Order: sequence, then structure tokens, then C-alpha cells
Amino acid sequence: MKRKTVFRIDNLSYNDIALLLQYNAKISPEYMIEEAKKGKSLFGSAALEEEEFLKVYPQLFSSIKGYRHVPCFTKKELDSAEFLILDYLHNHPDYRHEVEPDYRHLVFDLSNVCKYCGRGDSQIADYRFAVRPNTSRWKLFTAAWNYYMIFADKEFHETVLQPFGIKCRPVLSLKKSKILENVVQLVLPIIEEDMDMRDMNFDDCPECGRRIYSLEPEDFCRKYKSDNLPSMFEGKEFIGHLQGTRSKHIFISQELRQTLIAHKQLWRTRCIPLI
Ligand SMILES: [Zn+2]
Repeated sequence: MKRKTVFRIDNLSYNDIALLLQYNAKISPEYMIEEAKKGKSLFGSAALEEEEFLKVYPQLFSSIKGYRHVPCFTKKELDSAEFLILDYLHNHPDYRHEVEPDYRHLVFDLSNVCKYCGRGDSQIADYRFAVRPNTSRWKLFTAAWNYYMIFADKEFHETVLQPFGIKCRPVLSLKKSKILENVVQLVLPIIEEDMDMRDMNFDDCPECGRRIYSLEPEDFCRKYKSDNLPSMFEGKEFIGHLQGTRSKHIFISQELRQTLIAHKQLWRTRCIPLI
């Protein structure tokens, strides 16, 4: 049986929310409705059935209209999974490419990067931010296009993440090479086990042969067999498009998920359970 899917729209304004509520859209998280009334542009999202989505999408006010077609999981599936994929975190807009085109050489070894698919970089030095992240609201976030590199507020790491065994490394300012006082990068182990990707579509890069999986919304990811998995780790498989957006999955334990939800760093539905 195919899994039910919905359209998820991001970056909502108050006007958008008012419009979406007329279409019975599920707005998440709910406290956004209150925040939207203060006139804030939000990073929240709404989930709609296809029929409603097609009607409402052309009418939205947001200047940045992003949407995705995503699978629906029940509360029971989300709450009972031992491990889940982190589906979305707040993204810090780091404009380093405009500021310093050669920036990547300072942080990554690019000698094995494939000219066709762009993969093969490896981090060899501390990450650098052109714009120092403000961590007063979002304590856990990604940056620009590096969706599987996760950053945290330093104090949040010490008090909340370190007890889960999650390690970190310093982060520098781009120009002055100074350690940023408020931010760290999480150092996540990479799981050795291959994920069970049977029935999933993939492409092999014609240049380097690296495989990339294109997960359809109705696909789901299967549990790992390994025991004693760390509370947060990186998967091996690349997911996305050969010459477009791609990432690797970051996995978290249910206990960590609940903790992040309690700290309002993660929304209840922004995870994909391993089934
Ligand atoms: Zn390649």
C-alpha cells in the first residue's frame, strides 16, 4: 500500500496562515499562529492535501515560496520508532560564497571532488562562518547548503547534547580566523552498516561511480540491524539528485528527539521514522 503524502509549504507569513486556515491546512508548530499575528515571517510550515494545495499555492503571499511533497507518518509511528531521520532543522543563511569564493579550500580537501556530481569533498579544518550565527532562538541548525553538517549553540551543546555523547569541534570566523564563542560544529560518527535501500531508485555518477538514491515521498527507510547505535549519527548513503540538491541522512534516537522537541528545536513531525 502506498503511503499517504501531503504537500508541505515553508516560510509562511501571517497572511499566508490566515489563507491556509481557510483551507483546513494543518499548521505546525501551532504556536506559529500566535507568532504570525505579531507580523513575523516564519520558518514554519503547513501541510495540505493535493487538492487544497493546488488551489491555495498560487494565492500565497510569501516572497519565498518553497514546498515539498512529503510522506505522512502517524503519531504512533513517530513516537514509537527507536531511531528517526532528522528531516529539517533551522538553516542559517551563510553567504560565504559571495564573500569569499575560495573559502571552501580553507575547510575542505577538494582534490577528490567529482567534476560531474560535485561529491568527494572532505572536511580537513574547522568550519568558518562569514556571518556569525545568532543562537538566541535556534540552538541547533544547519548552514547554507551543507545540510548534513550540524551546528549548535555552545552552551546548548554542553548542557543538552554532550550528555548524549555528542562531540563537537570549534567554528571560526571566515575573515579573522577567530574561534566563535557561541557556536560549535557537531562531530557525528558515520555508521558502518549500509542502509537497506532495496526497492529504492538510484543513479550512479557516470564520472566517479558514486551512487545517489532518489527517495520518493512514499518510500520509507528501514531500521538498522546494529545494536548500541549512538544517539546521533550520519548515514553513508547520498540522497537526492545527481546534479542537484543532495544530502546524507542524520539519524537521532527517540530520546534525543523528545529532548529536542521539549527545547523547541525540532518540530514533532519533522522526522522520518525508521520502520
Ligand atoms: Zn561523480
